[in-house]
Amino acid sequence: MSNIKQLLNLENARQFSTISLIASENHSSNDVRQALSSRLTDKYAEGYPNRRYYAGCSLSDQIELYAQQQVCKLFQAKWANVQPHSGSQANQAVYLALLNGNDTILGLSLSHGGHLTHGFHANSSGKLYNGEHYMLKNELLDMNDIEKIAIKCKPKLIIAGASAYSRIIDWQAFSNIAKKVGAYLLADVAHYAGLIAGKAYPNPIQYADVVTFTTHKTLRGPRGGCILGTCDKIRKKIDSAIFPGTQGGPFMNNIAAKAICFEEALSLNFQKYASQVILNAKAMVSVFKKNNIRIISRDTDCHLINLDLTNINISGAEAEAKLEKVGIITNKELIPNDSLPANQTSGLRLGTAAITTRGMLEKQSIEIAEYIISVLKNDKYDVNYVDKLCKQFPLVN
Ligand code: PLP
Repeated sequence: MSNIKQLLNLENARQFSTISLIASENHSSNDVRQALSSRLTDKYAEGYPNRRYYAGCSLSDQIELYAQQQVCKLFQAKWANVQPHSGSQANQAVYLALLNGNDTILGLSLSHGGHLTHGFHANSSGKLYNGEHYMLKNELLDMNDIEKIAIKCKPKLIIAGASAYSRIIDWQAFSNIAKKVGAYLLADVAHYAGLIAGKAYPNPIQYADVVTFTTHKTLRGPRGGCILGTCDKIRKKIDSAIFPGTQGGPFMNNIAAKAICFEEALSLNFQKYASQVILNAKAMVSVFKKNNIRIISRDTDCHLINLDLTNINISGAEAEAKLEKVGIITNKELIPNDSLPANQTSGLRLGTAAITTRGMLEKQSIEIAEYIISVLKNDKYDVNYVDKLCKQFPLVN
C-alpha cells in the first residue's frame, strides 16, 4: 500500500495524463490551490465578519468581506454568503431558512437531470420536506407543464436548476410561476455558475429569491458552495441558517480560495474561457450528431452534453469503463425515461470545462469526440492519443 504522499503524487500524475470530461469537474489555478493549503486552514472564525466567537479574526474578516464583495460584483447580487462547505449545504441552508418541516418543494426529477438535494426521497431535502417533481417533456423544460404541476401541488419553494440539463433555463418564466403560486424561487446554478460569471449563460439573480451554486465546476474555484440574493430580509434568514443553523466554523482557507476564484472570474480572459467552453461543447455535439448518436434535449447551450448510447448498443456504465481504460474520464447518466437502471444507464454525460482550461479548442474537441466514437464502437484507434494530447495541453497553472 502506498503512503498518502505517494497517493497524492499519483493523483497529480493521473490528472496530468488523462482527459476529464466530467461535467462537474475543472482544474483550479495554482493561486486557488495555494490558498487552500495556507495557514488559514488552522484558523477558527465561527460567526460572521465583525461578529466572531473567537479572537484573532480581523484578517479572516477582511478576507470574507472581500470574497463577498467580489462575488456580488460577479453576479450583480446585493448580498452573499460565502461560507457553505458545499453546494448541498447551501441548498440545505436555503430550505432551513425559508421552509417549515413537511412544506412542499418542487424541483426537476433526479432521473431527468435534477439533483439529490432537489427533494429526492433519500436526501434530507426529501425526508424533511415533501419533494414534488417536474419532468422534461420531449426532453425539454416545458414551462406550461411546470406551471400546471405547481398549481396542483402548491409548493412553498420552486427549484430551477439541474445537474444534467444542457439547454438555457428560462429564469423569468420560473419566476412568473413562483409568483403565481406564492412560492419562493431558488435558482441552483451549480453547473452554470462559471458560464454566468463569464456572461455566456443567462443570470437568474434578478428573478430568483435566492441563488445557490458550487464554486468548483465551471467557475473553476475550490470545492465549496455559495448563496446569493437581493432581498435583505432573506439574507438574515440565510445567514442564520448557515451559522448556527447547519454549519460550525467556516473553512477560511477555502473562503480565501473562493475570493481568488471570483477575482479570476471577473477578468476578460474568463469571459473568453466561458464562451470557449460552450463552443467546444457545440463542436463535440456536431460530431456526435453526424455519427447518429442522439443528443438528449437535442443540443447544448452550455458545457454539458448528454449522449443517448442506445444506437451504438453500449450502456453508460460500459462506455464509462471503456473510456477510462484509454484515459478519458466521463460518467454514466440516466436519460429521461431510461429503460436501464441507475447503475447501468443508457446515457453518458460529458462536459468541456476542464479541457477548455487546458487550452483545448474546437479542433481538439472534434478530435476527442471522434476518438470517443471509435473507442465505443471498437473501431481502430491510436492507443497513445490521450497521452499525446495531454502532453500537448499540459496542466500548466
Ligand atoms: N446542485 C446541483 C445542481 C449540483 O449539480 C450539485 C453537484 O453536483 C450540487 C447541488 C451539490 O454540490 P456538492 O457536490 O458540492 O454538494
